[in-house]
Amino acid sequence: MSGKRVQRRDGELLAALRDQRELLRNAGERYDGGSDAEAKNLAVRLRVLLHDGGRNNRSLLGQLKIKENLPYLDTTPAEHPPEAPSFHGGLCMVHATLGPEGAGSSRYVPVLDKRASLPPHPPQAFVDWWSNRVISDDQGRPVSRRDFVLWLADQDGGAHVDGAIGETYAGLAREGIAIFQPGAGDDPRFKDLVAPSVRQIAFEIEKTLDAQLIDDSEADTGLRVKAPICSLSINETVSAGRNDPCPCGSGRKAKRCFGMRQPRRRLTLGDLHAEAA
Ligand SMILES: [Zn+2]
Repeated sequence: MSGKRVQRRDGELLAALRDQRELLRNAGERYDGGSDAEAKNLAVRLRVLLHDGGRNNRSLLGQLKIKENLPYLDTTPAEHPPEAPSFHGGLCMVHATLGPEGAGSSRYVPVLDKRASLPPHPPQAFVDWWSNRVISDDQGRPVSRRDFVLWLADQDGGAHVDGAIGETYAGLAREGIAIFQPGAGDDPRFKDLVAPSVRQIAFEIEKTLDAQLIDDSEADTGLRVKAPICSLSINETVSAGRNDPCPCGSGRKAKRCFGMRQPRRRLTLGDLHAEAA
């Protein structure tokens, strides 16, 4: 079934992006309206937009040449200092419902825009946003946004159902994680952590695209990013001088590119005390 491949015409990729954003938005609304299964649909949309899996399997945002330069919204909680480890739901929060006798049920829900009190993290480059840890499972294994999206899209019913699934995925999808101090009493697990995390990733992408995309007929793809971010990981060591060209290849001086990057927000013990007071 192999035929000659033809180049896409101008505007076709833009039309594809409009379709994917509409499908993402619709699936998000249906998920928020109570259809948990829509998380699989969201995962497939995110995969189409973001995942580069080989020569003929390229992300739509990559083909539009904006994936590496978008400043990605990060809605995870701030890191705690090592002396005060935190047990949080990553991209989710716990929603508790009281039952008639006071014994209620709890489950993970996506945070959406409800992260209280603290300012958001500075935006992240794709490489960090997609691949860095957002949560650890009960064994301490790191889980990234990429893991969440590809699990649902590739293993569990987005585009394909695998006969066997990974151990970390199974744990997080079936039981969530122990979100409070281990040994604190009742087993504090609230079922599926994967689907609401994927919903939250979709929320971050929707907000990022809404805020950052500008139609620009001068650009060869017809699209440009409002405030492009340096594509290098924040953990990269950049040895270029401040006025040298940034090694990411953006054409900007290092001080105006990598030098503008800010790390994720970290809390100090003082912040925690102030928050508790
Ligand atoms: Zn740069």
